[in-house]
Amino acid sequence: MLCCAKHNINKGMEDKIADKSLLVTRFAPTPSGYLHLGHAYSALFVDCVAKQAGGKLLVRIEDIDRKRCQPKYEKSIFADLAWLGLSWGKPVRRQSDHIAEYKKQLKRLTNMGVIYPCFCTRRDIRNEIEKINGAPHNKYLNRIGFVYPGTCRTLNPANVRQQISLGVPYALRVDMKKAIRLVKRAHGNLCWLDEEKGLQCAVPDKFGDVVLARKDIPTSYHLSVVVDDAVQGVNYIIRGEDLRDVTHIHCLLQALLGFNQPKYRFHRLLLDKKGKKFSKRDKPLTLKSLRETGRTVEEIKVMIGLC
Ligand code: GLU
Repeated sequence: MLCCAKHNINKGMEDKIADKSLLVTRFAPTPSGYLHLGHAYSALFVDCVAKQAGGKLLVRIEDIDRKRCQPKYEKSIFADLAWLGLSWGKPVRRQSDHIAEYKKQLKRLTNMGVIYPCFCTRRDIRNEIEKINGAPHNKYLNRIGFVYPGTCRTLNPANVRQQISLGVPYALRVDMKKAIRLVKRAHGNLCWLDEEKGLQCAVPDKFGDVVLARKDIPTSYHLSVVVDDAVQGVNYIIRGEDLRDVTHIHCLLQALLGFNQPKYRFHRLLLDKKGKKFSKRDKPLTLKSLRETGRTVEEIKVMIGLC
């Protein structure tokens, strides 16, 4: 694990990060809509980094949310990426095929005593936050949503058992403070290496007790991607700047689960004419419609400023 306390970078990890092994990176779309120009930028960026390093590109289908994801979007992802000229390692990992693995890792975290069930609804959380601070515009809000005020962290075991036996739906949250204490005791301060900005200290506390298994899905974005990247040997994660913050949480999970830590790189976000992020709902600008209406890949590259 990387530690940044006074440049005390753990030697083992320093060697791993600096080693000459093959760069393995991935493009990991969610098939909840057709890919758009923003995805084209990201996919071509990742492909370019992999090619320049003589590394390996993987494609991962992030479809844990079965309600939002559809086979037709997945099919189109492969057609779009092939059209853009990408080739990738096989077999492609599809998250929905690996729920048992996520559950296994969740069990390990549970055995460490850093997981608790949370029965709160979104409304309960809002109400609790308002009670604490008068309005939900407070320190309990951040870019990835509400910071959970910890209501269920202190429920007594009998109450928890009763709610579970009554069938009250629950999510599983990480007890962030406890998890950080555990990791710090074993590894010192948590950091990650951002290829452009250098060593970054992780501050996962600011996100509070994040959900690791949703009420409707026995995993979460955070848990799944951390497990997948470790299982797939991804040692270089490239994603959009909007996802920079989640690294704080992912570092913590990697440390808890004893996974190697990848290097990170964040690319700029491509914005539309109005300065907004492209959306899957913006039909005329999906890659499917652009390729079906005869646009060329060269034109796409010009549109996204890659040539
Ligand atoms: N699946 C995520 C998305 O489509 C990105 C995955 C990641 O890089 O963590 O936004």
